Amino acid sequence: MSFDHESWKLLGEALARLEAGFADLPPFSPGVDLPPLQAVLRQTAERLQDNYPYHHPLYAGQMLKPPHPLARLAYALALWLNPNNHALDGGRASSAMEKEVVADLARLFGWDAHLGHLTGGGTLANLEALWVAAQLRPGQTILASDQAHYTHSRISAVLQLPFAAVPSDAQARLDMAALRARLEQGDVGTVVATLGTTATGAVDPLPEILALQSTYGFRLHVDAAYGGYFTLADNLGAAARAAYDAVPQVDSIAIDPHKHGLQPDGCGCVLFRDPSVGALYRHDSPYTYFTSAELHLGEISLECSRAGAAAVALWATHQLLPPQPGGAFAADLGKCRRAALQLSQKLAADPRFVLPFAPELDIVVWAVNAPTVSAASRRARAIFEAAAARHLHLALAQLPVSFFAAAWRGAAIDQETVTCLRSCLMKPEHLDWLDELWRILDEATAVCHSE
Ligand SMILES: *Cc1c(COP(=O)(O)O)cnc(C)c1O
Repeated sequence: MSFDHESWKLLGEALARLEAGFADLPPFSPGVDLPPLQAVLRQTAERLQDNYPYHHPLYAGQMLKPPHPLARLAYALALWLNPNNHALDGGRASSAMEKEVVADLARLFGWDAHLGHLTGGGTLANLEALWVAAQLRPGQTILASDQAHYTHSRISAVLQLPFAAVPSDAQARLDMAALRARLEQGDVGTVVATLGTTATGAVDPLPEILALQSTYGFRLHVDAAYGGYFTLADNLGAAARAAYDAVPQVDSIAIDPHKHGLQPDGCGCVLFRDPSVGALYRHDSPYTYFTSAELHLGEISLECSRAGAAAVALWATHQLLPPQPGGAFAADLGKCRRAALQLSQKLAADPRFVLPFAPELDIVVWAVNAPTVSAASRRARAIFEAAAARHLHLALAQLPVSFFAAAWRGAAIDQETVTCLRSCLMKPEHLDWLDELWRILDEATAVCHSE
């Protein structure tokens, strides 16, 4: 058994409690004919078996983290009403809950005043931040590192703005010399700093980027879709800690509660430091709309209909696990990071593997030692498959060989990128499972090396 079969039992009582709020309505019983539903539901469950075991600690591949049982329940509970957070008429309570959780997230970065809302995900959150930037810096170039999420170049194309990728350094962070050189050429409207890149979890040097802002006058957006919550971890390295401590000074932030915030998919968040950017969203309603206490979230959002259930789930999660330093939620993030550090230490000590750099958050990437880069890539793919056959699910990443320059001597460079193994250790349980994870990786590697 690997599912939690207890938590859903709480739903019946909560549904009755919710219904009590509507007790003065004339009786109405929506008829539900259970047997046909049951048949299709069984069929659905069987259909869903065709998945990797995302919920299990041996799934340590892509950026997928199971929602908290409470988030699952609160989301389901909300579906009996299915509130829509576009307008207060569609979701009064869930809009109020959204404003509270968005304020919680803004406070995570030291902002008491802010403008922000939940989105369908990090892509939409980044799109809104860059759409606002595009209006304030019309026609000017958007810069992000070559390790930034590919969404930034696509969003720039959607916004019809020039985009340029700034090279990353050997740590997979945005290279400061390259950034300065590009800024010198002029016409840069916005710089995107990624705090936690999707491939390797690298944290761009935000304090150094901020130091250039007064000279070059760009807007600064932080893409922390994956990494944002790590500001709560008490075991970051010095450079990452300094980057997170500088976040309060940026113009906008994207953070995904559905990445590390224990939420079902469909929950991102965009935050602006200056609430007056709300004026840019104006369509046919007066600006006072945005400053009134009775804010309709649809008036500050590009998306119209949005699941109120997503806000309800995040609100419930924040009541149980407030995103605050020193709490249980912060402690779990620290565990993810400890698991990543332990795995990276084992990899660094093993001559079969090549670790390019220590993890900054909870993603670990490593190459497989081989006489040539192409052979290393083939071995990585073979180990990936042999591990999966033993129920350990890792991921693969294509990384520049330059990340390995310091660690990897001797391999003939016959291609520019190397296929690496990658593991996102996003579940706190990964820490307890690390020995088992390593045992399987060791076995899978031994099998591949003997072939
Ligand atoms: C996941 C991710 C995105 C995209 O967010 P979605 O929620 O998948 O739309 C953008 N940037 C970074 C750094 C990410 O990790």
